[in-house]
Amino acid sequence: MKSLDLQTLASFADGTLSGMSSVPVSRVITDSRKVQPGDLFVALKGGKFDAHDFLPQVISAGASAVLIERGRGTGSDGCALIEVDDTLVGLQNLSRGYRSLLQPLIIGLTGSNGKTSTKDLTAIVMASKYQTRATLGNLNNHIGVPLTLLALEEADECGVVEMGMNHPGEIKTLVDIALPDAAIVTNVGMAHIEYMGSQDAIAWEKGTLPANVHGEGVVVLNANDKYSDLIARHCQATVYRAGTNAGDVRAFDLRADAAGTAFKLDFAGEVVETFLPIIGDHMVGNAALAACMGWAHDIAPTDIAEALRYAKLTGGRMETKAVQGIQFIDDSYNANPDSMKAGLAALAALQTRGQKIAVLGRMGELGTHAVEGHRGVGTHAAGLGLTAIYTVGDEAALISEAAKAAGQAETRNFTTHEACAAHLKSVLQPGDAVLLKGSRSAGMEKVLTHFSHS
Ligand code: ATP
Ligand code: MG
Repeated sequence: MKSLDLQTLASFADGTLSGMSSVPVSRVITDSRKVQPGDLFVALKGGKFDAHDFLPQVISAGASAVLIERGRGTGSDGCALIEVDDTLVGLQNLSRGYRSLLQPLIIGLTGSNGKTSTKDLTAIVMASKYQTRATLGNLNNHIGVPLTLLALEEADECGVVEMGMNHPGEIKTLVDIALPDAAIVTNVGMAHIEYMGSQDAIAWEKGTLPANVHGEGVVVLNANDKYSDLIARHCQATVYRAGTNAGDVRAFDLRADAAGTAFKLDFAGEVVETFLPIIGDHMVGNAALAACMGWAHDIAPTDIAEALRYAKLTGGRMETKAVQGIQFIDDSYNANPDSMKAGLAALAALQTRGQKIAVLGRMGELGTHAVEGHRGVGTHAAGLGLTAIYTVGDEAALISEAAKAAGQAETRNFTTHEACAAHLKSVLQPGDAVLLKGSRSAGMEKVLTHFSHS
């Protein structure tokens, strides 16, 4: 963060300043345990916590300033107070002010599946020409987006900002903070349908991001997604499409191996060869979106192709880990029916003569679609020619039951990760491949922990 004086910070936050700080503010932080001199600590309130309770510790740790609710703090030597009515709104206002001061190119990114993956790929592509900073990990909500913007440095030319949502209206809040110059919508699927009601409602919500990109800006939509036409109709910015075998930027001639996928990228007639060191056709689609965003910002196709060769994603997304000669695909970060099918397709397409085993956990937030969603994945998986489909937990059992009913020879459900790991140890051989996938709450990476401790 560019170091700012207290008056500027207070005016961005629309707050009242009192006191002085001994060290200028060079970072905004919400985690009281990590406060250091030079930090502006924002005291947020949640359902079960009130960070104002930690103000004494924060001040003794040397915070330069604290952003607090009016009347909740007492002055202290060396720590200034910025008082606001609502500290979350204060943080959001502060970040919008900071973003407007710095004026980098801001690329907002949303979609049902693959936001973090595409964010990582877009950042890698943009970094080949522009000094780029992106959302750390998955900090994509009403707190993460402001913190991402506030982490931008003065020299940064581009910020890639992931925007997530669970409920209607959330994207607009994030857009109003980040004021994006460009946007990517990865796809419109079924994630969060429990709170959103229908897929059309999800499309409408995602479309809020590109619809709010100004007329000089750029929007990249998925050429393989049926909702892209609807979303494009509401955009004032220049709209490009990118995808697999379709789009202004088109990935084609995919050749998968155990390390990733070689493919060609066609940039409106200029074709380059590249390699993505991440497995799964869905990741090639994400790479096409990232490539298109770079191309729309004057990055040469050859430079984009080169950048993709070094791509690395945030953990838990199609992360391959070799343990005792077995290839584990850790895709355990999250799951919904669409991403389950994408992960299963990647396992099925792996070039190995060994066994291919899917180890699946529950998918959350499906609401009334839960039974149908789990069963649908099971039926689909049965047609992929996998050696076995194993599940962990009651809800996930619906997947293995449906797979069995659809003709999958080997299926089992385990009550614990440990029991599943024990069984895997008895059947796995070097050369085999295992996909670990489920919602975050299913913690499917735990299977691997048991395995590697053997
Ligand atoms: P979240 O909503 O939790 O932030 P996300 O949209 O950021 O998720 P990622 O973290 O990139 O998505 O990936 C989550 C899961 O979706 C991973 O299992 C990943 O393999 C899968 N995935 C990534 N891209 C796609 C895609 N284009 N289509 C389907 N599944 C995908
Ligand atoms: Mg994410």
